[in-house]
Amino acid sequence: MNIHMSLNQYNKLINFCKKSKTEQSGFMTVTEIDNDIHITKIELNSEDLIKKRTNKEIVYRKEYLVQVLYELASCESPVYIMFHTHPKGSSNLSEEDIELLKYVQSLSQRLTPNDYVKVIEGIVNDHEISFYYYDSENEKLIRIPLFVDNIEKLPLREQSMTKIIKNSFLEGMARAKRR
Ligand SMILES: [Zn+2]
Repeated sequence: MNIHMSLNQYNKLINFCKKSKTEQSGFMTVTEIDNDIHITKIELNSEDLIKKRTNKEIVYRKEYLVQVLYELASCESPVYIMFHTHPKGSSNLSEEDIELLKYVQSLSQRLTPNDYVKVIEGIVNDHEISFYYYDSENEKLIRIPLFVDNIEKLPLREQSMTKIIKNSFLEGMARAKRR
């Protein structure tokens, strides 16, 4: 499964993160096409669901979980995507983010044990967006590939890793030639 969004949606979210000093959050409406997820609408959480927000965290009121439960129960797609921003931060999930993701995932599994909605968390920072799913069977966090206008966007940390591999390969080739 991949996630698709338009360059316009992508740039809007990143600019939105850059402009706000505090974390922002919301959810995304999607459609499923050929096993892939296409984002159709991005909505912010209404302010009355939020108790406190800083540049490091968002503290939700308990009404937030009621809202999430309602959305999970009425969700017609196979996934439910929440997102929040990390202004000047990384696009990794924090420990608290992982706990919340696991919790909402468990709610979804309890709600409809046989046909539960997969819960995905998107992290938007000043230069990229990453989406994660928690695989509770294997207890593993999985990053879901993101395509923007059909081009895959790798997070910076993975980009630099491929660059490192590529460069060391090129170096090795050059060394081999010199021999
Ligand atoms: Zn976070």
